[in-house]
Amino acid sequence: MSPSPSSSRAAIVGGGPAGLIAAEALAGAGVAVTVYDRMPSVGRKLLMAGRGGLNLTHSEDLERFVTRYAEAEPVLKPLIEAFGPRDLRAWCEGLGQDTFVGSSGRVFPKAFKASPLLRGWLARLEGLGVRFALRHTWRGWDPDGALAFTNPDGETVRARPDVTILALGGASWPRLGSDGTWTEILRERAIAIAPLRPANMGFTLPWSDIMRRFEGEPLKRIALTFEGVTVKGEALVTADGIEGGAVYALSGRLRNAVERQGSAQLLLDLRPDLSLDALTKRLSAPRKGQSASTFLRKAAGLSPLAVALLRESAPELPVAPEALARLIKALPLTLTGTKSLERAISTAGGIPFGELDDHLMLKRLPGVFAAGEMLDWEAPTGGYLLQATFATGLAAARGALKFLRIPDAALTLGPSSATRQS
Ligand SMILES: Cc1cc2nc3c(=O)[nH]c(=O)nc-3n(C[C@H](O)[C@H](O)[C@H](O)COP(=O)(O)OP(=O)(O)OC[C@H]3O[C@@H](n4cnc5c(N)ncnc54)[C@H](O)[C@@H]3O)c2cc1C
Repeated sequence: MSPSPSSSRAAIVGGGPAGLIAAEALAGAGVAVTVYDRMPSVGRKLLMAGRGGLNLTHSEDLERFVTRYAEAEPVLKPLIEAFGPRDLRAWCEGLGQDTFVGSSGRVFPKAFKASPLLRGWLARLEGLGVRFALRHTWRGWDPDGALAFTNPDGETVRARPDVTILALGGASWPRLGSDGTWTEILRERAIAIAPLRPANMGFTLPWSDIMRRFEGEPLKRIALTFEGVTVKGEALVTADGIEGGAVYALSGRLRNAVERQGSAQLLLDLRPDLSLDALTKRLSAPRKGQSASTFLRKAAGLSPLAVALLRESAPELPVAPEALARLIKALPLTLTGTKSLERAISTAGGIPFGELDDHLMLKRLPGVFAAGEMLDWEAPTGGYLLQATFATGLAAARGALKFLRIPDAALTLGPSSATRQS
């Protein structure tokens, strides 16, 4: 006989979006849920993501969408098909937060921040009876198998749930709660963990003093090329390197190259909207005694930052118009290192899918599931991070229901899910 849902207890360790969506699904199915988090409040990284408008997901075709997960595509595809961009938007709208598609195809809540969404979500969870144990740091398992937490008084608190969902996040921005200390706990249980590495991060470049003066200045409407892949967008000059959307989009490949060979050469096109021929023609105009900077500004439309970058790469600028045009369209930037994981947008590495069954349960720890950024996948920015976080959180909840022998049909999201269940 199936156990009654209300007699089943679930512990969700980690109150980020992966843990909270799992909590909603399980509580909606009638399971008694406690969310444990080491911070005084949950969803801090989600709130931080909201500072950039909260790019929830992307509106492109699902076929193309799932390719963003590269090697993890085969595993994540069915989970994203089960809870895809449309579902995520509908869920967000169900919490009173209408969404819109931006010009780049990215999807945001109209409020362009996370706080109203999180407020509504927490109210819904409380309505479903979800308990929150905050300032509870997970320490692993006791020898007798109980989950062990340290509470704010430094005491050990134990829990013996019927199922556990680990949703402890990666290790970027550790001050928001996710510090990756769970890797040691799981390694002690003989679970292989792919080393945590920065993803969607900046790179270091040994700038000259002149370039350092441009710290914080954006490079707009540029294109970056690496290993034959070209990305149009923006970048930002930092005191010791470069970051921003176009850099993040190539960051996985660039990181792997820097790790492999110590550096990576990125090609910067300062005028991607002009063909080489068109630019050569412009640069063939008489200089009429103008300084190189004035000429480049007027003939090629280059900003002072773009001119400084050209000079950084070639102190003696080519005189021949075509050679100069070639440099403007393929300026080599040698990246010598990655920015640290602490400052990265997301984390690569984590629990390999080989350690999990099809329901995201750890093969070595029956009844323990894992979801979100602690799993070994990575994706560019554009809403792909949160989409996979939500989809894996729900997949883990579905797996937990199966483990508890509660019918899958009980899994619904929304304010009335508990009522529907009863
Ligand atoms: C600046 C920034 C901007 C971003 N913008 C976007 C965006 O616009 N779109 C997008 O798709 N993604 C974005 N992301 C990424 C996105 O926020 C994450 O991928 C997502 O939050 C991961 O969710 P999660 O639930 O797996 O982990 P987290 O959100 O990291 O949550 C994990 C939770 O576990 C808790 N925890 C960790 N260790 C312990 C422990 N030992 N004991 C108890 N609790 C613990 C933490 O306190 C935390 O609350 C951004 C990230 C950053 C840093």
